[in-house]
Amino acid sequence: TETDVNELLNMILDNFWVKVHAKHGQLRTEIQATDPFVLVDETHFTNVLYNLMDNAVKYTPTNLVLTVKTWNEKGNLCISIQDNGVGIKKEYQKRIFDKFFRVPTGNVHNVKGFGLGLAYVKQIVDAHHGTIKVESEVNIGTKFIITLPTLKNN
Ligand code: ATP
Ligand code: MG
Repeated sequence: TETDVNELLNMILDNFWVKVHAKHGQLRTEIQATDPFVLVDETHFTNVLYNLMDNAVKYTPTNLVLTVKTWNEKGNLCISIQDNGVGIKKEYQKRIFDKFFRVPTGNVHNVKGFGLGLAYVKQIVDAHHGTIKVESEVNIGTKFIITLPTLKNN
């Protein structure tokens, strides 16, 4: 369906700030895309955004700053979800989208998961002709950027 991603994000974040607060966190938003309309399966796409935010909370031990932005670039809608958590080593960044892959982190944080969230995220983004990339530095944080063609470009 035709989805206003700005509106969808604001709705998700309304429900999500409780989790952020539990991590003594702050939410920073710049949801400013002027053309926020994309053609997506709203249920799956909601899950995608939720998965990325869930990871941001899970992999930031404390004092989380969750930054969520949208903007337009060359006929695309871009969404970024950024945390200031444990980060991901360069050598692992390609593999995080593989099914069942989890970064072997020792005892830094004891976080449960199956390693399936990002495989699902990638599959849904691909199915919508979008792209996803990761920028991350260990102990600094992680940013995921999703790009989707806007409705006008479909
Ligand atoms: P689940 O299936 O419950 O999502 P998961 O969170 O372990 O389990 P993914 O979401 O697929 O699985 O993430 C894969 C791995 O990538 C994680 O185990 C973690 O090591 C790393 N990772 C993902 N997101 C982040 C992040 N925001 N910061 C640091 N590491 C991350
Ligand atoms: Mg996950």
